[in-house]
Formats: sequence, C-alpha cells, structure tokens
Amino acid sequence: MMFSPASPTFSPFENQLSARRRTPFWRRGLAFGALVPAVWGFYFWWRPPAPMLHLRHEEHLGRDSKNIAITFDDGPHPLTTPLLLASLKRARVRATFFCIGGNLRLYPELAHRLVEEGHALANHSEPHHNLTTVDARDFPAHIKAGFTSIARVEADAGQQNHSTRLFRPPGGGLNRAAMDYLYRNDYTLAWWSNNVGDWTCPPAWRIAHGVKTHLEPGDIILLHDGGTGTPQAIPAIVKAARERGLRTVLMPERGAP
Ligand SMILES: [Zn+2]
Repeated sequence: MMFSPASPTFSPFENQLSARRRTPFWRRGLAFGALVPAVWGFYFWWRPPAPMLHLRHEEHLGRDSKNIAITFDDGPHPLTTPLLLASLKRARVRATFFCIGGNLRLYPELAHRLVEEGHALANHSEPHHNLTTVDARDFPAHIKAGFTSIARVEADAGQQNHSTRLFRPPGGGLNRAAMDYLYRNDYTLAWWSNNVGDWTCPPAWRIAHGVKTHLEPGDIILLHDGGTGTPQAIPAIVKAARERGLRTVLMPERGAP
C-alpha cells in the first residue's frame, strides 16, 4: 500500500487529538483537581523544618555553658507522657515539664511518675488560656493555682524540697498586666531559645532535624507533650547534644547555684 501523508492513521498529531477526544473533559478536570492537593500535601509533609518552623526566643542558659535544658509544655497527657517518660529513661536524661495545673489534677498518676522519675515540674498555668485574653483579676486562678497544683503533686510524692517559681505563659501570650502580676509575686518567666514548632505534630525526623540544626550551647529546647513524634525524636536530639559535648540539665530556678 502506498504511504499517504493525508491519511489520519499515520499522523501522530491526529492520534493525540483522537485520544484527547476519547477522555471526557470532566475526567481530565477531576484528575487535575486531585493532583493539585496531592502535590501541595506532599510539599507540606516534606518541606524542611528550618527556617519555616523555627521560632527563636532570646532566653538560654548562657552561650558559654555546656548545659542545655529540654522542656515539655502542655502535659501531662495520658497518651504521650508515658511515651516521653520511656524515651527519656532510655536516653538517661531528665527534663523540665511545664505542666497545665488542670492536667496534673486530671492525671495524678502521671504527675507522680514525673516527679518519681526525677523530672522537674514547672508552671504552664492552671487552665492554659492565653493570658492576654484574661482579666487581671483572674490571674490568681490562672497562674497561682498552677503553682498550687504542682506543690500538691510534689507533696503527695514526698518531694518537699522543690518549690518552683518558673512560669511559662500559654502560647507565649503575655501583656503588661500579667508581667506585673508575675513580678509582684516573685515568679520567674521561663522562655526558650530552640523551638521547632512540634505542636503542629510533624514526624519525628523533622523535629529531631530542626532541633539539631539550631542546637547551640546553653539552649533551652521547647517541645510539647501531646504529639507522638516528639518522644521518638528524643534519642536523636540527646545523641546530637552528647556528640557536641553538651549536658542535659533541669531548668535552673532563679537563685539556684
Ligand atoms: Zn502550651
């Protein structure tokens, strides 16, 4: 048979056109519509933790210090506190738990375990409300009540010699009235210097990578009790700290040696 350039059978362009005609427009639209969120979803899962998630604050233990402190906000939590305790025990480090007073009362067994396993309790308020939204007359119910809940746990656990003055405001929210209240009552504000934003529950490797990338001597590492990635990230963080000659300590109280 003679080759005919006019024949549609032999034209690749015509073949493409007919294939496109065979796929209904709505199906192509559906496939494209599914692709866009899939690509965005993959990007947000994969995107590197630094610098997007890394939020710094100026407080540290001294940049010439060989000490760092690991701190956990928002606990105790019935699912993740046991995981954190197991991970910390395996890594042979102690941490400071900025606890919500209401959670200490809800989970007294976990509260006792924190004390019994050598970790320090500090105050993250009683009901975890942002203090900038709280009336100054209610500060005792939010701040002082948290210290009272901690003192009760420590007394029940037979620990009389640790009386924390450390307070970390929920969400970092603070205004002049709250600062005045803390100052008048001789409480100590406790900030941080290393914060990878683990409250968004990223996977463990991202938490560990973010902390390690920014780790400096004297860092106060802010993590959270509430996500399953954080307990899994502890071994890598502690290993990186040890490799740099850094020692993990409890948050020092003001005036302590
Ligand atoms: Zn919090």
